[in-house]
Amino acid sequence: MIIEIKFILILAAVLLLLGLILSYLSTLADKKENSAEKRIEMLLPGINCGQCGFPGCSAYAKALSEKKAAPNLCRPAGADVAKQLGAMIGNTNASYEDYEEQLFSPRLVAYIHENSCTGCGKCKRKCPVDAIAGILKEPHMVDPDICIGCDECINTCPEKCIEKIRLDHDLSHFNWNIHSVQIKTGS
Ligand code: SF4
Ligand code: SF4
Ligand code: SF4
Repeated sequence: MIIEIKFILILAAVLLLLGLILSYLSTLADKKENSAEKRIEMLLPGINCGQCGFPGCSAYAKALSEKKAAPNLCRPAGADVAKQLGAMIGNTNASYEDYEEQLFSPRLVAYIHENSCTGCGKCKRKCPVDAIAGILKEPHMVDPDICIGCDECINTCPEKCIEKIRLDHDLSHFNWNIHSVQIKTGS
């Protein structure tokens, strides 16, 4: 009888210990879930486009939680989220006016008037991101998905047949940060 009581007491103690351990682990998980980094990440769009200069939303959230990044770097998230992020990390110095202008101003890209284009190819050679296609002596064309609106082709064209046109933003046409675009090297 005494042995049975001892066994039950030991079993109860083990179960109590296990319960305490599980409760501790659950508290740790809750803490992680509610950490600043996690709460910041939940505000970000999660599309991992890299426009903020970090390799994905998690990395940007981590940098923000450590106060190593400005809160207005995620353009897809928009100005309201940027302001919320600024409030969360105590950064009220970021300029949201400039940011909103950047966010909502239409994207400008080059457009070639093919009737006036002689196909000399000077614009194509000058374009830093290979956005211009065309063969010599034939009208050239700009790919608006690639053009970063740098004006190099406009300044180069001897026929003055390139102008800037406006594109509305959508999820695939952000106002790209020129520093995040891979620039080709050499001529
Ligand atoms: S710019 Fe925004 S959506 Fe894109 S990776 Fe950075 S945090 Fe994510
Ligand atoms: S504006 Fe710049 S990026 Fe766009 S087509 Fe002209 S040279 Fe290329
Ligand atoms: S520089 Fe002007 S004329 Fe020459 S290919 Fe380009 S758009 Fe045409």
